[in-house]
Amino acid sequence: MRVTVIYGPRDVRFEDREAPRIEKPADAIIRISVTCVCGSDLWAYRGIQKVAQPTPMGHEYCGIVEEVGSAVKNVKPGQFVIGSFCISDNTCPNCRAGYQSGCQNLQFMGTAQAPYVRVPLADGTLVPTAELPSDDLLPSLLTTSDVLGTGWFAADAANVKPGSTVAVVGDGAVGLLGVLSAKLMGAERIIAMSRHAKRQQLAREFGATDIVTERGDEGVARIKELTNGVGADSVLECVGTEESMMQAISSTRPGGSIGYVGVPHGMRLDVFPVFFHLVYLHGGPAPVRRYLPDLIKLVLERKINPGKVFDLVLPLEQVAEGYRAMDERRAIKALLRP
Ligand SMILES: [Zn+2]
Repeated sequence: MRVTVIYGPRDVRFEDREAPRIEKPADAIIRISVTCVCGSDLWAYRGIQKVAQPTPMGHEYCGIVEEVGSAVKNVKPGQFVIGSFCISDNTCPNCRAGYQSGCQNLQFMGTAQAPYVRVPLADGTLVPTAELPSDDLLPSLLTTSDVLGTGWFAADAANVKPGSTVAVVGDGAVGLLGVLSAKLMGAERIIAMSRHAKRQQLAREFGATDIVTERGDEGVARIKELTNGVGADSVLECVGTEESMMQAISSTRPGGSIGYVGVPHGMRLDVFPVFFHLVYLHGGPAPVRRYLPDLIKLVLERKINPGKVFDLVLPLEQVAEGYRAMDERRAIKALLRP
């Protein structure tokens, strides 16, 4: 079969690799229904994260179970399943506490931009649906695998509550779905920081009440202005740079919370402003597995349509164009169909 492999900066190829097989009794093999390119894949694509050797790509996935190992009990061949980008046993103390992304047996999915994928710890990682979902729901179901679950965690970690004032730093798919999550959690005011007309429009559709186009100190000043000089109760940091983190810290009111989910790159956090801003900080790789059953239910009941973040659909073999379009910000997020 042909799969996605990155060789180096702006060098993504679709090439022959051996199809995955059951290697351990807890494994499952999934036939991918849809997969996609993640904003975090661009760190390697842009050469910011070094690629030492040709590396398969992809960590967002859903599809039909093709085969399971002898120890797998919760999923069966023929079922439609969605899994988190974090592979977890869902039984260790950290998983039971709701932090499956801190599992004692944690692994990361990394080969999902392919027609078939091997999922280790299948019982702990995969969530099956009761029946096969209709085709038009696949993009939204796919978002639960990472970007929606991550946006939800950002809002949860930032302690969003009914009536909260929320600011969202970052207008990628995670930031946009952070807006949707904050709305679902009952936020009254949601300020999205974005400079792109298309993303601003989607943020508004998802529940943003205000748009701030300024960045840095000007962005902070604008948020203060919109909140009577106080700052937001909750700030979602969905980028991962020092600039975006500082913007989040300075935009939060004393006693407010920051949920940070952008994978940090080149960030050296100065604790001094954190100290004097009196803020809570919680973040990291999202424990998507904790949220999967509820988020899948919301999608299947058609209460949310997070799949709107996909504004480019390509056959999997054109995956390189998906990376290119996202790198050039021509697309918010590229959906790939094997
Ligand atoms: Zn665990």
